[in-house]
Amino acid sequence: MRDEAPTVTKNGIPHYRMFIDGGWVDTADRYEIVNPATEDITATAAKATTAHVDTAVAVARRAYEEGSWRRTPPVERAAVLDRAATALAARMEEIATISSRETGMPIRSALAIAVGFPQMHLQYYAELTRTFEWVRPTPITGQVLHSGLVKKEPIGVCAGICPWNFPASIAVWKSIPALAAGNSVVLKVDEKTPSFALELAAILRDAGLPDGVLNVVIGDGPTVGEHLVKHPDVRLVSFTGSTATGRRVMANASETIKRVLLELGGKGPNIVLDDADLDLAVDGTIYGFVLHAGQACESGTRLLLPASIHDEFVDRLVARLETLKIGDPLDPSTDVGAVMNATQRERILGYIESGKTEGARLVHGGGTPAGPEFDRGFWVEPTVFAGVTNDMRIAREEIFGPVLSIIAYDSVDEAVKIANDTEYGLAAGVWSRDNQRALDVADRLEAGSVWINDWHNMSQHLPFGGYKQSGIGRELGPDALAEFTQDKSITVDMSGDLSRRAYGLVLGTPPKH
Ligand code: NAD
Repeated sequence: MRDEAPTVTKNGIPHYRMFIDGGWVDTADRYEIVNPATEDITATAAKATTAHVDTAVAVARRAYEEGSWRRTPPVERAAVLDRAATALAARMEEIATISSRETGMPIRSALAIAVGFPQMHLQYYAELTRTFEWVRPTPITGQVLHSGLVKKEPIGVCAGICPWNFPASIAVWKSIPALAAGNSVVLKVDEKTPSFALELAAILRDAGLPDGVLNVVIGDGPTVGEHLVKHPDVRLVSFTGSTATGRRVMANASETIKRVLLELGGKGPNIVLDDADLDLAVDGTIYGFVLHAGQACESGTRLLLPASIHDEFVDRLVARLETLKIGDPLDPSTDVGAVMNATQRERILGYIESGKTEGARLVHGGGTPAGPEFDRGFWVEPTVFAGVTNDMRIAREEIFGPVLSIIAYDSVDEAVKIANDTEYGLAAGVWSRDNQRALDVADRLEAGSVWINDWHNMSQHLPFGGYKQSGIGRELGPDALAEFTQDKSITVDMSGDLSRRAYGLVLGTPPKH
């Protein structure tokens, strides 16, 4: 009999195994999953080798070729996703707590981001699977006796490579639209944050997903991730991570001409216009750069302020930041949790030093918070620099931490120019009481998402992805489903009359019988 849960208990803590062909696969080697807020080992996990990747891809290919899932009618595929959404909702508190322990994310955010969004995502793609135009009858204009059909077909084995920052949301973004379209999937999850994808796999299995259609391996990037990207039987790679790794993924995928979807870094410009509602803009700005301790690609990390309200805005921003509570992610009153690990903390502190060295003015934070409760764990205070110029490193490079760079501007034209002066183009924002004015600015911004009087609003209805070096392709919305399909054109010639056909272009006039 198959055992059901992704974990077994080893040495008194949960141990995650990989999910291949509908069952759990363990290894002698293991990863230790560290709680970023306490440095305790919260779980261990199996450690994939390239041989596990080969097995997972072979199984996924077999499942695809057998067709047990891709030939399942869309309404039945939708029913599996619906059942999974219901099962996930029933385990909301438990899964959010696991996720918070694994990522350092405050529990209030984890409830929404690690369970609420994935659940809505499953429901949304269930509905879309029912209503999507899988086959489109297409008349061929001027050829009355020809009829055309365009079928949206799956692509085959799709690989999803997930980073550690939002392991739940990104695992569903990489797998659910792909599955909805009838593909087989191999997910490679980050070795620091494997739990959600494995829980999801078990939930989907119990909801009726056939064995082998979704497989989850836990492994590092340079060997396991790279092997998956290069695998000749993988037809599409959907990657989320840094721009540097994205470049490498794209190069490796080019060897076998795979479709590549990339969601990469950002350096989001946040433009406050002089007529903005300041209470709304101050809170929204903080939400924009402090969510998950700033470890979000779509964060608003460059705040562009007009001279007329600059000082008042900075005073209000600092006063509001003083009210935030940093600390235990499992405490529901916590606003800011821990950062992922020591490497991440040192990287962020390094950028804070560079801001000071390059002459920016530190107006809030700037280090690790004081107090015995921060002796263990990895912490960085929300940090704000004023007097930043767009050529400083803190304005150009993705810090992936709670650091805001304030840049003053004199005219809206100048603000737009500064906003667009970046290699990135993921998210941007505009604050104004005048919607038309804000829309005019939004039109001029080079970013895949622009929020007006808001931030981080990633509804499953709207496409999300980058302009410029922030990525290729779109997640969320109907576009994401389409990304995991390929078009097949089928033409039916209903004419029995040889003389009406184009054959004559090559064969000349048909002989008379
Ligand atoms: P990363 O690029 O180091 O790793 C991301 C994933 O890729 C991990 O699973 C890693 O194991 C794997 N990987 C690493 N090298 C690989 C290789 N050569 N081949 C295949 N896979 C490889 O990024 P990270 O530090 O884990 O995540 C943070 C980055 O992700 C940030 O730069 C952030 O902006 C970006 N991010 C982007 C989005 C988005 O939607 N645009 C969302 C979240 C995070």
